[in-house]
Amino acid sequence: MRKHIFNAGPCKLSDSCLENTSKAILELNNSGQSILEVSHRSKDFQAVIDEAVALFKENLNIPDNYHVLFLGGGASSQFAMLAMNFLKTKAAYVNTGTWSKKALQEAQLFGEVEVIASSEDKNYTYYPKGFKIPTDVDYLHITSNNTIRGTEIFEDLDSPVPLIADMSSDIMSRPVDVSKYAMIYGGAQKNVGPAGVTFVIIKDEFMKSAIKDRVIPTMFKYDVIADGGSMYNTPPCINIFALNETMKWVKAQGGVKEMERRAIERKEMLYAEIERNPLFRVTVEEGSRSRMNIPFIWAEGKEELQDKFLKFAAERNIVGLKGHRSVGGFRASTYNACSIDDVKALIKCMQDFEKEV
Ligand code: PMP
Repeated sequence: MRKHIFNAGPCKLSDSCLENTSKAILELNNSGQSILEVSHRSKDFQAVIDEAVALFKENLNIPDNYHVLFLGGGASSQFAMLAMNFLKTKAAYVNTGTWSKKALQEAQLFGEVEVIASSEDKNYTYYPKGFKIPTDVDYLHITSNNTIRGTEIFEDLDSPVPLIADMSSDIMSRPVDVSKYAMIYGGAQKNVGPAGVTFVIIKDEFMKSAIKDRVIPTMFKYDVIADGGSMYNTPPCINIFALNETMKWVKAQGGVKEMERRAIERKEMLYAEIERNPLFRVTVEEGSRSRMNIPFIWAEGKEELQDKFLKFAAERNIVGLKGHRSVGGFRASTYNACSIDDVKALIKCMQDFEKEV
């Protein structure tokens, strides 16, 4: 029986992605070969990666003067790679939690970092707003959704300098005005596919502005990856296949507008129950609450129920609720493939538990 999966990533994927990827593992398009066996230079795989790029662009309405690249290394490699390429002297970073901190620490290997806004003062429980963006920096870096703390920014900022966003955990969950960004990147393993492939959306003009007088290994040059059609080296073929299936699913469901509508519905239902249920408490300030990651903790004095509740949930086929070790309590990750029924099952579980204790 399929479980109600609330994992933070890797996470739940659509049934059609799982079914079609399973079939392709046995045989890709009557080719007599598995997607695991086929050459990445074959026309069968070329068709897969071409469609993945085209659908990624279509779903997010990405302008023509941008490339979509698929790489290895995760979003964590991008923390360093983007700074290696674009941080000449100084960059601005917004510090909204673990992942932005890691991103800025990697950037410090290559130049000066100015933290222009931070929510560290309140344990990252809000998303800073209205900060002033300096004009003397090479770029501004933000993390649009903070997977661990559950805060999110829903607007596409107007930035006087190139804007770079880590959208690992909210990509494809709302329409984005891509033209406001120089680069958007993330690990695929939340809303766009399985772990093992990293997406980069990069403006051509910005890509060309990469630092020329710094030694950058070939594999870490965006223009080399772009020129090679994301196949300068052997790409993660099966991950790109599953990503393509996820893009087909997003499109068939009604695109990112529909993903957004569902995300808002899930979030409102779950937050309403956390606020109603006397056993639990929210952690994130209103106005900053993520649609993708919903953390909640025990009401005072109830903490000893932790293991009991996790067991109670597991008996109801609900998995992935344990909060990140830095926050404690619980976190329900409600990415695109998480259904209203999954959320209803969790709410029912919280209500049944309230009656039981
Ligand atoms: N940024 C964010 C917002 C994330 O949630 C994660 C992973 N959970 C990362 C970066 C790191 O991604 P990866 O594991 O693909 O390196």
